[in-house]
Amino acid sequence: MAELDPETLKREMTAWRHDLHAHPEFGFEEKRTAAFVAAKLREFGLDDVSEGVGGTGVVGTLKRGSGNRAIALRADMDALRITEQSTAPYRSGNAGVMHACGHDGHTAMLLGAAKRLACEGGFDGTVRFIFQPAEEWGRGALAMLDDGLMQRFPFDEIFGLHNMPGLAVGHFETRAGPVMSAEDNFEIVLRGIGGHAARPHSGNETLVAACALVTNLQTIVSRRLSPADIAVVSVTELITDGTRNALPGLARILGDARSFRPEVSAEIERQMRIIAEGTATAYNVSAEVSYTREFVPLRNDAELVDAAFVAAKNVFEPDNIAVAREPMTGSEDFARFLDDVPGCFVFLGNGEASAPLHNSSYDFNDDGLLFGASFHVAIARQRLATGR
Ligand SMILES: [Zn+2]
Ligand SMILES: [Zn+2]
Repeated sequence: MAELDPETLKREMTAWRHDLHAHPEFGFEEKRTAAFVAAKLREFGLDDVSEGVGGTGVVGTLKRGSGNRAIALRADMDALRITEQSTAPYRSGNAGVMHACGHDGHTAMLLGAAKRLACEGGFDGTVRFIFQPAEEWGRGALAMLDDGLMQRFPFDEIFGLHNMPGLAVGHFETRAGPVMSAEDNFEIVLRGIGGHAARPHSGNETLVAACALVTNLQTIVSRRLSPADIAVVSVTELITDGTRNALPGLARILGDARSFRPEVSAEIERQMRIIAEGTATAYNVSAEVSYTREFVPLRNDAELVDAAFVAAKNVFEPDNIAVAREPMTGSEDFARFLDDVPGCFVFLGNGEASAPLHNSSYDFNDDGLLFGASFHVAIARQRLATGR
């Protein structure tokens, strides 16, 4: 079949990206985005396009030849509740919501790959194009899985990518094993007896106890976990009901913990409960700990990482392909799919001058579009090689 002209495809993807950028939608509200994606996939002539998978998710299916293997390529569609600082003509038209993580770019790249694979073929088997909702919540992948993704649209392995500010455009990185961390959230409520600021001894105020607890929580990583395990425990909020001349009877400590193994996450929670209980007792107040798990750790399959590096050689200059030095303590909802099948998540440069992800001045770099789409195409053709 005829090959698509790369420059024409790049122009098309740029137009789609700008359209998506101008109409950002928050997690599970991606109605316009999902309709846009589904309409494009139908236009490309996919064998099946299913909407409403796990809320606002879309799955496109493309079959060629007689191969019985299936691979999935995944993009995320949601935006963030951030007010955009931009003068671009395609800036957000949805006040208070913006594509500050580049999911508009990820969606455009996967659409570009779908168009090329539908038009050119070059593989034997089934490609599933998964457009997931609510990545930022850490809920969208699970919603699709709970809606029967694996039963209705089975696949053997999955690939995904994310743009990376600070890395030059045209550069590619990934690594085997741990790539991105789990995210846990916690809230510790201390209860005592508030009272007059001039008479602390007549109550059991909670602020000094809370300050001690914030300090003691630092020993989870420094003294209670193995130095070989990567972990972060960050207290992000300390809120009391005190006022200028009244000591608080209530203090709330909120925060975020990151780790790369379920055992480490469990140990952080166990140690947190011991320290909160012990500190509260020492200060004559009570402590109540709530601990929730939002994102699971992302671990890349070693064999599929090797395959991704081979595919990358078709797309990137050899000097621009690198093994990522260390895992990142950010989190990614792609990890949920890896409970069911092996997979590989990779990073593409968004430019050294790019604003950070989740920054109000961030914008996806359109010069990266062709690299991402080409990587999707290359990995699909390699994993579903004709005559394999
Ligand atoms: Zn994000
Ligand atoms: Zn993201």
